Amino acid sequence: MAVLPYIVGNWKMNGTRAMLAEARAIDRAASRFPGVEVALAPPFTLIGAMREAVNDIGVGGQDCHVKPSGAYTGDVSAPLLVDTGADFCIVGHSERRAMAHETDALVRAKAEAAQAAGLGVILCVGETEAERDSGHAEKVVTDQLAGSLPQAGDAAAKLSVAYEPVWAIGTGRVPSVDDVGAMHRAIRAKLVATYGEAGAAVRVLYGGSVNAGNAAELLAADEVGGALVGGASLTAESFTAIIGAAAALAEHG
Ligand code: PEP
Repeated sequence: MAVLPYIVGNWKMNGTRAMLAEARAIDRAASRFPGVEVALAPPFTLIGAMREAVNDIGVGGQDCHVKPSGAYTGDVSAPLLVDTGADFCIVGHSERRAMAHETDALVRAKAEAAQAAGLGVILCVGETEAERDSGHAEKVVTDQLAGSLPQAGDAAAKLSVAYEPVWAIGTGRVPSVDDVGAMHRAIRAKLVATYGEAGAAVRVLYGGSVNAGNAAELLAADEVGGALVGGASLTAESFTAIIGAAAALAEHG
């Protein structure tokens, strides 16, 4: 069975209850495109209300703690995410790797904790601008995967990888389609080397300044199975255009 393209919005630290109207509009739009799997990752505080407000889209967290419960003031665990209605969790976003100093080992532990709680996982990797300029982008990304891909149990089954060049996030700059394709092929090779046949079915999303204008060409790049979208997922208008681009590609190739 063909795997559906996966279009995921990361709302980061944005989204009060007033934005549930936008989530409802995205949900209505998603229901018109059954050939695309759509999801939103709002802040923790909005997950429960969003879950109640939508029918056809996934709702997930942007991070989780490695432990299921305990004395970790201010943190949220994977079982707590499940309890509030989440069905997936992003781990290893570059903003957390940079600002919260998350290591590959910690990201792997988070991915495994999320999967153990029954959540799907979107594992983020990506190089900095200096790493790309020095010609080491592929090594950086495959090393991140070596250190952070989950290994416990049936790890590939509920896993997506998001390739997000750090220099493309929120900047309006995107890699060339050829560079996206080359990196996604390298990621696929690493997934197959790690998981065998199951690695061939893991969706590899592109993320970094995806918008209504560039989505079609980025989604058409080699081995791109969807997109992780920040800024352009905050309004139904721009996010729906990206979902529509994925649907058109899935239908017409
Ligand atoms: C992100 O933060 O995951 C992201 C891709 O952001 P943006 O689309 O705004 O670049």
